Amino acid sequence: MIIIKQEGGKIISGASMKDVPTILWLEEIRKEDIVSVGGKGASLGEMASIGLPVPKAFVVTAQAFRRFLVETGIEKKIFASYDRLDVENNEALEKAADGAKTMVLKAKMPAFIKDEIRHAYKKISAEDLIVAVRSSATAEDLPDASFAGQQETYLNIKGEAALLEAVQKCWASLYGARAIYYRAKQGFDDQTVNIAVVVQQLVHSEKAGVMFTSHPITGEPLTIIEGSWGLGEAVVSGSVSPDKYIFDQRSEKLDDVLISNKKVEIIADGDHGTKQVDVTGARQDAQVLSSAEITKLAMYGKIAENHYGIPQDVEWGIMNGTIYILQSRPITTIGNKKEAKSMSGQKQDNKIILQGQGAAPGIASGRVAIIRDVKDVGSVKEGDILVTKMTNPDMVPAMRKVAAIVTDEGGMTCHAAIVSRELGTPAVVGTKTATHVLTSGQLITVDGEKGFIYEGEITAPAKPAQVMQMAASAPHIITATSVKVNVSIPDAAPRAAATGADGVGLLRIEHLILGLNKTPGWFITNNKEEDFVRELHDGIKMVLDAFPGKPVWVRTLDAPTDEFRNMMGGENEPHEHNPMLGWRGIRRDIQSPDQFRLQVESFKRLWKEGYENLGIMFPMVSHPDEFLAAKAMMKACGVDVENVTLGIMIEIPSSAIMIEDFIKCGIKFASFGTNDLVQYTLAIDRNNENVADMYQPQHPAVLHLIHSAIQMCRAYDVECSICGQAGSDPKMAIWLVEHGIASISANIDAIAKIREAVARTEKRIILDAARKRDAE
Ligand code: PEP
Ligand code: MG
Repeated sequence: MIIIKQEGGKIISGASMKDVPTILWLEEIRKEDIVSVGGKGASLGEMASIGLPVPKAFVVTAQAFRRFLVETGIEKKIFASYDRLDVENNEALEKAADGAKTMVLKAKMPAFIKDEIRHAYKKISAEDLIVAVRSSATAEDLPDASFAGQQETYLNIKGEAALLEAVQKCWASLYGARAIYYRAKQGFDDQTVNIAVVVQQLVHSEKAGVMFTSHPITGEPLTIIEGSWGLGEAVVSGSVSPDKYIFDQRSEKLDDVLISNKKVEIIADGDHGTKQVDVTGARQDAQVLSSAEITKLAMYGKIAENHYGIPQDVEWGIMNGTIYILQSRPITTIGNKKEAKSMSGQKQDNKIILQGQGAAPGIASGRVAIIRDVKDVGSVKEGDILVTKMTNPDMVPAMRKVAAIVTDEGGMTCHAAIVSRELGTPAVVGTKTATHVLTSGQLITVDGEKGFIYEGEITAPAKPAQVMQMAASAPHIITATSVKVNVSIPDAAPRAAATGADGVGLLRIEHLILGLNKTPGWFITNNKEEDFVRELHDGIKMVLDAFPGKPVWVRTLDAPTDEFRNMMGGENEPHEHNPMLGWRGIRRDIQSPDQFRLQVESFKRLWKEGYENLGIMFPMVSHPDEFLAAKAMMKACGVDVENVTLGIMIEIPSSAIMIEDFIKCGIKFASFGTNDLVQYTLAIDRNNENVADMYQPQHPAVLHLIHSAIQMCRAYDVECSICGQAGSDPKMAIWLVEHGIASISANIDAIAKIREAVARTEKRIILDAARKRDAE
């Protein structure tokens, strides 16, 4: 859409109609020509001018379109059909759009415009070249308004007649219902909009995809490239899970490679259009891009970003081994570009002194505060970097005020990792030696995404809260699979709710109690039962209030005995060799009726207050008898157990294997606690950094248990979910959706990417099915 100021059909500013030719060649275009060639055309021209490999192209200018409207006499009729259109009235909108589109399509293109397009087409290549015909809309490519996809693109166009038809179709797409609606909402006057059309050599790519020249949310200088076989349409439309490559512009090194199973590709279909075909054999799992290609692409991305001064969203294709840049437009999701830049500028000079697992995203600098004994935790000051062997619940108050957290021990599901993610505090866990290598007072910078600790300070780092904000404000995508969020700390509930999650798939209430620094036993022996019930009630209520009408699954207490040890009353906790395999979860509650009764009392109050969305989940269940026992105990406490939502976690292989028996006992839902399920299936301690590389949520045995339990739940129509850390991994989320999971509960920081992975996978499943049906 191009806006030309005009009065009574006459252009009064911008380029004069007569001055601007019907055709402009890419080489002659600069970004100032946006009024004539639209954002896409101007951007391609700019890129060609700085030497990027852009395929040959010319643009049918916006003025040519305006001449078409005037010469055919439809201009006034179209605008009349918009007079006082109520765009909120769907029927009226569709009708106006259809009418306008038909007028454009039916009008006879003036001979002089046709001739000029034909002439240009011949000039681009002696033979009939296969071209892509793209609408070029100004608002689509402006940094502050991303209306991508509102106007059409036609691929694989060959021959003059097909080209002329495609140009006219692009013009007509200016009056699509969606386009009219958005323009009206953005306050554009429809009488002054215009459109250009880019005609460009089609790159019959053997591989293609998209590239974000910087991280789309944090703005970090990490180039993210997605690529798959065939034309880029497969990646853009989401019909294939592409390979993903992350290239760090600071170190100029490939950071991460994620190879996907690429089931389909889109290729040219004869002279017209495109078709989707299956990818067969080894190509399905083969890496699409060589490291040389990734490096070169990232370099092109950098050139484009530097030239435009803002991170770019680039479409690329590789034909006969040559890289082509097909399109580039600003990324609109990045908040504060300046911060991202200064961070990258500084970071290159800072030395990495330690590495662990990036457990909570964000970058922060501060002075090291080493805590060897929890008694010293009071000495930690606001803005310090808390360095300790492993955090425990009595450190949570300190964890709230520090800038970042670093531990010697632990993996992605340890206490430090879970709590940090929720607090939005960057954390690196499992460094093995942080408490020895770092010294108190030392100035360091922690990168909680990549797991690096840098020497010294990196100024103006991205603030995690701000990052979360941006992730949260991403457009809400509706998915059939519910995307829920995990909560452990009630005051994180507003942030959790801001993600737009479909509910809470796990509320760990032990964190509520552990934060009080007194064991449940202490409350009971000191006649403080009411305090205990109130604490639970108030904490859970905070979460319920943040998710009105959405399911909130609250898990009954599940803390290993060693986590209670340092608290008041901890002296009465048994010493266990293997607390992970010990007295925890539902097995402990069944043997501690008072402790269970107090929890149930808080749930009862909430149900009574009308929180029907409260569901209760029992942890560490290994046999249906335990579920029945817990249910009976609830009934004895006066709960109408048949009419409340009770479910279990699947954390022990036995519960996955016996899921049908659980279902027959009346569970309403089941949720995979993969943090434990993995450790109990593979005999790998989840918190032991020495075996961290063997801790594999995607181990075939784990997947086998998950798959069979999902199928059983589906057969009985029982909601099957996941709340373990594996659910925050997009790759796993894709697998789970493919295998029929009903909901996924992820960490706050992962919701946006999980929702996107889920949406893409669902769309792909639907598309695959539709295409299969069409083929039959
Ligand atoms: C799990 O085991 O996956 C889980 C979510 O529970 P926790 O991490 O609290 O053991
Ligand atoms: Mg667990």
